[in-house]
Amino acid sequence: MKLQRLAVIGVGLIGGSLARALRAAGAVEEIVGAGRRIEHLQQAVDLGVIDRAAVNVADAVRGADAVVLAVPVAAMEAVLGECAGAVSPRAVLTDVGSVKGSVIRAARETLGPVFGRFVPGHPVAGTERSGVAASFAGLFEDHKIILTPEPDTDRDAVDTVRTLWEQAGGQVVEMGAVHHDRVLAACSHLPHVLAYSLVDMLVRRDDHREIFEYAAGGFRDFTRIASSDPDMWRDICLANREPLLALLEQYRLDLKRLMDAVEKGDARALHDTFQRAKHARDRYTDPKKKAP
Ligand code: NAP
Repeated sequence: MKLQRLAVIGVGLIGGSLARALRAAGAVEEIVGAGRRIEHLQQAVDLGVIDRAAVNVADAVRGADAVVLAVPVAAMEAVLGECAGAVSPRAVLTDVGSVKGSVIRAARETLGPVFGRFVPGHPVAGTERSGVAASFAGLFEDHKIILTPEPDTDRDAVDTVRTLWEQAGGQVVEMGAVHHDRVLAACSHLPHVLAYSLVDMLVRRDDHREIFEYAAGGFRDFTRIASSDPDMWRDICLANREPLLALLEQYRLDLKRLMDAVEKGDARALHDTFQRAKHARDRYTDPKKKAP
C-alpha cells in the first residue's frame, strides 16, 4: 500500500518515528506535519521527517489519505475538533494515545459522521525521550501495536491502519478499549507512577546527594522511566484514573504487607514474595526463559 499524502499531527517522538518508518518503507509519497511550535515543525522539516509544515491542523488534514494524531492525550479532543470539518470522508484517521477510552469518547463527540473512519490505536513502544530529535525509524520494529476499533468503526479503515503499522515494522493486535486501558494501567501507567514517586521521595531527603551518588545499575533500571515527560504522564494518569486508582490501592495493600513482614522479621513472607516475583519476571520478560 502506498499513500499519496499522510498528515501527522504532533511530530514528536511517536509521530516523528512513524513518519520516518513509513518513509523508509516507501509507504508514502508526501508527509505533511502540523503541531504547536513552529520551530519544532521546522526542525522536523530540516531532519527530513516531514516534507512540509502546514499552517494549522485543518490545512494538514485537507487532501490527506491518512491522518495520524500523535499529540498528548489531553490535546486529542481539540485536535480532533480541528480535523472534523476538514478531513475527507474517504480518509482514515488514527491516533497513538496511551489511553483509549477518553480518546474514543472525544472522537465520538467531535467527528460526528466520520467517526467510522477513526481507528483508535496505541503503539506499545517508546523511550523516556520526547520531541522529533529523539524519533527514529526502527522504534516500532517488532513491537506490539494495539488497535481498539469500536463496533461502528469501518472495517476497511481498520485494515488500512493495520497495513500502515505493519509497514512501519509493528505487530498489530486488536482488543476492546476498556480492556486495553486496564492492561496498560498495570503494565505501563502504574510503573511510571511508582518510578516518579520513588525518585521524588528520595530527592526530598536531606541526604539525597549521597543517595544518588551511590545509586547503581539497579536503581537506574528501576527509575529510567521517571525521566519521561511529566506533562504526558500527568495527562495519562488523569485520563485513565479509575483503573490506575484500583491498582494503586492494591499496591498500597501489598506494600503494607511487606512492611509488616519486615517489621515482624517474617523471613518466609519476604522470601515467598520475592521468589514469586523473580519467577514471574524470569518467565514473562526474559525471552530465553519464556514459557511457550
Ligand atoms: P512528544 O515527543 O512530546 O510529541 C508530542 C507532539 O505533539 C509534539 O510535536 C508537540 O508539539 C505536539 N503537541 C503538543 N500539544 C499539542 C497541541 N495542543 N496541538 C498540536 N500539537 C501539539 O510526545 P510523544 O512521546 O511523541 O507522545 C505523543 C503521544 O503518543 C501521546 O498521546 C502519548 O500518550 C503517546 N505515546 C507515547 C509513548 C512514549 O513512550 N513516549 C508511547 C506510546 C504512545 P511541540 O513540540 O511544538 O510542543
